Amino acid sequence: MKRILLLLTIFLSLAGCAASNDRSAASGKTLDIYFMDMAGGASTLIVTPLGESVLIDTGSLEPKHRDADRIERACKHAGLEQIDCLVTTHFDIDHYGGIYELSRRIPIKRFIDSDTPPARYDKRQAGETLSPLYEQATKGKTSLLEASEDIPLKNSGKGPKIRLHCVASQKKIEGFSGDIDAPVEGFEIRKPDTSNNAYSITLVLTYGDFKFFAGGDITWNVEHHLAHPVNRIGKVDLYQVTHHGLDLSNNTILLKALAPTVAVAMNGPRKGIQPRTFKDLNALPSLKALYTIHYNTQYGDQGNPPAEFIANREDPSRGEYIKASVNPDKKTFTIQTGPEGKKKTYPIRP
Ligand SMILES: [Zn+2]
Repeated sequence: MKRILLLLTIFLSLAGCAASNDRSAASGKTLDIYFMDMAGGASTLIVTPLGESVLIDTGSLEPKHRDADRIERACKHAGLEQIDCLVTTHFDIDHYGGIYELSRRIPIKRFIDSDTPPARYDKRQAGETLSPLYEQATKGKTSLLEASEDIPLKNSGKGPKIRLHCVASQKKIEGFSGDIDAPVEGFEIRKPDTSNNAYSITLVLTYGDFKFFAGGDITWNVEHHLAHPVNRIGKVDLYQVTHHGLDLSNNTILLKALAPTVAVAMNGPRKGIQPRTFKDLNALPSLKALYTIHYNTQYGDQGNPPAEFIANREDPSRGEYIKASVNPDKKTFTIQTGPEGKKKTYPIRP
């Protein structure tokens, strides 16, 4: 009997994200990605054509409930009654601050995170306040995601395959066993990043030919080894601008290797999309559009995309998301700023 129970437990935990509500009959066939306005923090919601959901990060704790409100609203727009998987890329306050409040509003079925030695929660990053809330929300049941692992997602068996794959986590990279911070002849390697950022979970989502890169807040040296000496990811259609667009991330050689068609930055009114990153992104021959959540008031029109590509250009407190919808049958994806924004369509790279 014990053995049967054990096997059942293993089966249920392996089933993980696959045990979820199935809205396939009700939904269209698009894969949807919501980049939410966390005012300089991050939260990205992925909803598959079968209605499975993966939320990457939960924004900030303060101001009270703002980010949980916004995530809950996006979940409602997506027709979700639960979040199947919540991935916390790393333990910084702008990435796991909203978890407790969110967990009180919508069931979260599985928790996945990274780890940061020597301490799981960085005290400088309000770990004393947030870590008990994280433990309460997760009830201590979390699993580590390592580089080269998948987050299992359901496939219908018909149509293109969907896959969510981890290429870096805990400062380790799939296919690379060397020292990430060791000098590399002919390239700029920066001094070791011992902050939580370098330990972020980095995910690649594919759906047929469509490819999306989401690197949390990984920094320069980790990015280098994703792109060099071999491009471990290939070219992508959609790039979540790493680390809100800060210049300590978004290594030029990775941007060139990924060669995105569209980039989306979860920046804030005074955070992110710094000048070097802005310049490097705009210099990419592949890039058709850069979208941002906010107009960064520090850099003026020269350092921001045109108004139609900024989700909260008129009113920074509106909290509008940017939504990508992927239709592999049409070989296109659309981007929309806010639920009422005009949609623009981009081709999926063959
Ligand atoms: Zn961040």
